[in-house]
Amino acid sequence: MTLQMEDLVPYGGVEADAAWADEVRRLARERDAVILAHNYQVPEIQDIADHTGDSLALSRIAAASEASTIVFCGVHFMAETAKILAPEKTVLIPDARAGCSLADSITGAQLREWKAEHPGAVVVSYVNTTAEVKAETDICCTSSNAVDVVASIPADQDVLFLPDQFLGAHVKRETGRDNLYIWAGECHVHAGINGPELAERAAENPDADLFIHPECGCATSALYLAGEGTVPADKVRILSTGDMVHAARSTKATSVLVATEVGMLHQLRKAAPEIDFRAVNDRASCRYMKMITPAALLRSLREGADEVHVDAETARRASASVRRMIEIGQPGGGE
Ligand code: SF4
Repeated sequence: MTLQMEDLVPYGGVEADAAWADEVRRLARERDAVILAHNYQVPEIQDIADHTGDSLALSRIAAASEASTIVFCGVHFMAETAKILAPEKTVLIPDARAGCSLADSITGAQLREWKAEHPGAVVVSYVNTTAEVKAETDICCTSSNAVDVVASIPADQDVLFLPDQFLGAHVKRETGRDNLYIWAGECHVHAGINGPELAERAAENPDADLFIHPECGCATSALYLAGEGTVPADKVRILSTGDMVHAARSTKATSVLVATEVGMLHQLRKAAPEIDFRAVNDRASCRYMKMITPAALLRSLREGADEVHVDAETARRASASVRRMIEIGQPGGGE
């Protein structure tokens, strides 16, 4: 359960200096732990991690890793997904209060009620959902394969799409389906990447490429606007995290506007230091992601906290919907 953002005071008082880095590495070795960091983490956490990436790629690394403990520096539903895919491992998140406003926009009980109103409908859920919601889901999707997932469902069957209304609107437009019902959820970071602002930034920087990373809810509104023609189509690149880093290395553009959570800029600037990367809105920062501070990581490794648990039956059902997602189309990088 995500707390109100104003109630969240991150663990602090630790400087991410060389002594901190040595201690983190020593404790990780002692615990046989691999440290995974989402791209939207603060730079110090990204830099100390064994692997940095998007949540789906990190979950796959978690499942394949030989380490017995996974320290997942990201938000709670991502650590849960790692636990679902690697149930035999200990999964820690440095601060379990790091929730996600999009994942919290629908509960398992609300989904069960919605399903009861649409008997026989196929439930398609974006990966930003809790394990309980995934367990009630037929197929999970990322924004890279959401259209393919919905298109794979027989045309006469109703589809319930959740929780992100922007991604849902995009899928409805692309598939032309009338029988697609959309849950009205959204991510609070959306507010930082709105249509007029996106169009204004693009007009001010006519030579810049526009990278939109759709796999986190914070940029699905940008994805929708690009499809509507709010910004010039030839400059728009809809890219998963991994592809965004590749595109940064190969683009001829000297400046790039990035429509996603601001943490992504760190990886892009490392990949192509000569390019001027700018956030479409530098207030587009996820406070939940930033709960994972150097102090929180140290505490996690010292105390073995906070451990992520998913009960066996929920994990079994949730894992089936996640595996179906991986089978259909290109799941891309996840959120
Ligand atoms: S940016 Fe939005 S969708 Fe992504 S983790 Fe934060 S609250 Fe959730």
